[in-house]
Amino acid sequence: VANRRLLLGIDIGGTKVALALGDADGGLLSASRHEAEVARGPDHMLARIVDEAHRLLGAAEGKLEAIGISCGGALDRRRGLVLNPPNLPGWDSVPVVAHLSGALQAPASLDNDANLAALGEHRFGAGRPFANLVYVTVSTGIGGGIISEGKLVRGLSDSAGELGHQTLDPQGPPCGCGNRGCLEALSSGGAIAREARRAVEESPDEGAALLALASGKPDRLAAWMVAQAAAAGDALAAALWHRAMEYLGLGIANVVSILAPQAVIIGGGMIAAGELLLAPVRSAVRSRVRLVPAEEVAILPAALGPDSALRGALALALELA
Ligand SMILES: [Zn+2]
Repeated sequence: VANRRLLLGIDIGGTKVALALGDADGGLLSASRHEAEVARGPDHMLARIVDEAHRLLGAAEGKLEAIGISCGGALDRRRGLVLNPPNLPGWDSVPVVAHLSGALQAPASLDNDANLAALGEHRFGAGRPFANLVYVTVSTGIGGGIISEGKLVRGLSDSAGELGHQTLDPQGPPCGCGNRGCLEALSSGGAIAREARRAVEESPDEGAALLALASGKPDRLAAWMVAQAAAAGDALAAALWHRAMEYLGLGIANVVSILAPQAVIIGGGMIAAGELLLAPVRSAVRSRVRLVPAEEVAILPAALGPDSALRGALALALELA
């Protein structure tokens, strides 16, 4: 199989970097994951990626045909530049596509992690049956990607799909994007942790169960603790969780009303809450969406877990090959 065609997917994150080697159909052959070592800078990180790629390629036999690269934050897809993502300090207009394409002798393409997670779930995960879907990632922040007729919707300056920054409360809390009352500022893991800290500081008695989960330290409160305490019947945690999920349901209902997707696929760290997250979203979509046949819209957890974007990078390579 020395002339086998190979594809490479790379997911560059702030804590981990992952590589996946795929066959000509994007099927997974092998994968590796290593610490990002962000403090050592982009040159070191790119050299390590090239080493790992050579290691995977050396064990596989075949010819590398194309490379797909996933990265969070601001990037210039046409010029192949990673601009300055918040999770990769020191990366400022780094020519990732030119570097990896040159070092590995294959064409390469770059896209943001939420778009590629959407593409990955569409090609290889929970979104396989659907030509029209919306992927939503709910973790520290909220991001998304839109697949329409089997293709990613990229929009002006590749900025489509940022459904976490729709305004849901004009007077709401400030958001990292500079607006206020965005879905992300109301329903993300970061927002839930922030509200939990505020609530336990205001009412330490009602917040006793939450505080205990955080070893008595409000700044250690995390969204999963709120979910866990809510599931166990704690009233304050349940109120915080319910409010955040109500806004998440509203935000997703808005997207369903606008795009009429066949499916909404929810990924990101907070999907670990399972039905505690999915049930209120399904309920909001069923009750708020009137003109789209909401009962036909599948609302599903992502199937590829932390590998959605990595598999999407392979799907991106498949488009180049
Ligand atoms: Zn925002």
